[in-house]
Amino acid sequence: MSESDPQSQEQLVVVLPDGSELEVAPDATVEDCAYEIGPGLGRDTVAGKLDGELVAKEQPVYDGVGLEIVTDGSDEYLEVMRHSASHCLAQAVERLYDEDEVKLAIGPPTDEGFYYDFDNLDIDEEDLADLEEEIEAIVAEDYDIEREDVSIEEAEERLSDEPYKLELLEEFADETDTVSFYKQGEWEDLCAGPHVDSTGEIGAVELLEIAGAYWRGDEENTMQTRIYGTAFEDESDLEAFLERKQEAEKRDHRRIGNEMNLFSIQDVTGPGLPLYHPPGKTVLKELEDFVEDLNQDAGYDYVETPHVFKTDLWHRSGHYQNYADDMFIFDVGDDEFGLKPMNCPGHAAIFQDQSWSYRDLPIRYAENGKVYRKEQRGELSGLSRVWAFTIDDGHLFIRPDQIEQEVEEIMDMITDVLETFDLEYEMALATRPEKSVGSDEIWEHAEEQLENVLEKRNLEYEVEEGDGAFYGPKIDFAFEDAIGRSWDGPTVQLDFNMPDRFDLSYVGEDNEEHEPVMIHRALYGSYERFFMMLIEHYEGRFPLWLAPEQVRVLPISDNNLGYAYQVANEFDDFRVEVDDRDSTLERKIRAAHDDRVPYQIIVGDNEEDDGNISVRDRFEDQEYDVEIEAFRNHLENEVEEQRTEPDFLQD
Ligand SMILES: [Zn+2]
Ligand SMILES: [Zn+2]
Repeated sequence: MSESDPQSQEQLVVVLPDGSELEVAPDATVEDCAYEIGPGLGRDTVAGKLDGELVAKEQPVYDGVGLEIVTDGSDEYLEVMRHSASHCLAQAVERLYDEDEVKLAIGPPTDEGFYYDFDNLDIDEEDLADLEEEIEAIVAEDYDIEREDVSIEEAEERLSDEPYKLELLEEFADETDTVSFYKQGEWEDLCAGPHVDSTGEIGAVELLEIAGAYWRGDEENTMQTRIYGTAFEDESDLEAFLERKQEAEKRDHRRIGNEMNLFSIQDVTGPGLPLYHPPGKTVLKELEDFVEDLNQDAGYDYVETPHVFKTDLWHRSGHYQNYADDMFIFDVGDDEFGLKPMNCPGHAAIFQDQSWSYRDLPIRYAENGKVYRKEQRGELSGLSRVWAFTIDDGHLFIRPDQIEQEVEEIMDMITDVLETFDLEYEMALATRPEKSVGSDEIWEHAEEQLENVLEKRNLEYEVEEGDGAFYGPKIDFAFEDAIGRSWDGPTVQLDFNMPDRFDLSYVGEDNEEHEPVMIHRALYGSYERFFMMLIEHYEGRFPLWLAPEQVRVLPISDNNLGYAYQVANEFDDFRVEVDDRDSTLERKIRAAHDDRVPYQIIVGDNEEDDGNISVRDRFEDQEYDVEIEAFRNHLENEVEEQRTEPDFLQD
């Protein structure tokens, strides 16, 4: 611990998690602060958090900073340990592969584990077992992990044959004179840390997969080899994680999407540009119709805008200044155009084209609007990250006194949607950030009305102070799927900026011009993301009202084919198919199960003689002697009520 003379140097004050203040020496580090609190805590310190940011225990603190000490009992400990595990991976790679050839890039911890990127590494999935064994050896060898601060010049020398590290170093050189290395055994890495004390502290490690990754995420750069892994404190935690991961993989929407012929993303048509096949579009169409009904009931008018606008519009909306890097922009003749990244400016332009009286408001526009956002190619994945997606967009232009009533109605629509899919949800109110547009009066008025709406619902909600957009407060929804994963949900966003940019106005009761408040809202958000989530939530076993194929008729033999078609005809209000393949009943049942069809109708000689059917559901339950009429009535109700599980045989 450093000694200092309080007479000559000002003490620093750091703020601890319980709000209490701690006075420390001006050159104190995180670890010094921990010792100041107590010697036991000092010895246990692994790392620290300064204003929420994870840092090494050697990091100096500064006046007024919020300090949290990280020990092996903290939530962040796993993150620190996984970072150390990523170092072990790189060390193992350099032991087993030609270390002059292989170049090191970066190796951070992630939410679920860690990765390390290598250039010039020729490796297959089968080689991961050997690497894992070498990592286990490094853990067993229990090297101390030692930090060393060195000058930039010294670092340059040590990294002379690591071009990627040198590139990183060059950037650090602008900000600092010294950088840190972490050394374990014969191996060291340029790294800010933090790390655990020794490799022996790393519990159970598992390497998961190999992927390609562009250096610094930029597709102009070299494609490197990324090895993903994870680490836990013990074997049983790792096993539990691998089980959860397997469950998530079983539900992977890309695989199920392919198996059910829902959609494809092809090289020839372009990355991040999903194509919906007939079964996929069938599901989407049901989703569209569902919100269309809700919109119609709530007084929305549908509008339609093109996929592309002159960039004059994007200048006006501010997207050009703030968002151009993520837009597809191109010239046609002397004009510049951009694919729309959002639907709002088009809707504002429609509102602006007419004059309005206070009595006309609220005006509510809805559009299933396709938008285009240029995400990094390396980040594109299935339907979760795409270049083209459709928003079930809605924009309202209202008087300030209508905020509460309109937001309440939107909240009803959103909760209606989430409850229909059996999704548990949470809500949060995001309030005025430091930098914002709009008067104090409108902000206070708006926040108060949003709070009223939330209070009335008698559900707990979080207030995220200062987390609103600069142009208005918002209510965010988050929901949980069937395997407990959390997803960002719909948003109700107030906007005091766009009406100003578009000079929107209405004539008030006082005969003066007033600016309306704009509300952005979506019930699903992006159809793509929502569809993806539903595929994984239901594991492709959609509720009857969504299922691409609702009923399949299985004739027991070819002799019953005629009757099978006759029965199918009785169900022509539903999406029904006849399995007319020359195959055994057992195989047909298996196929219908694999195709995730909610109901099977089985017809043989008995059924044909009696003029009825046997019904089998996806839970493998079967009922004989069912009247066609009775089953049809049941299906109508199950669809009408949007029930989540087929329940004809489950009552
Ligand atoms: Zn590191
Ligand atoms: Zn919008």
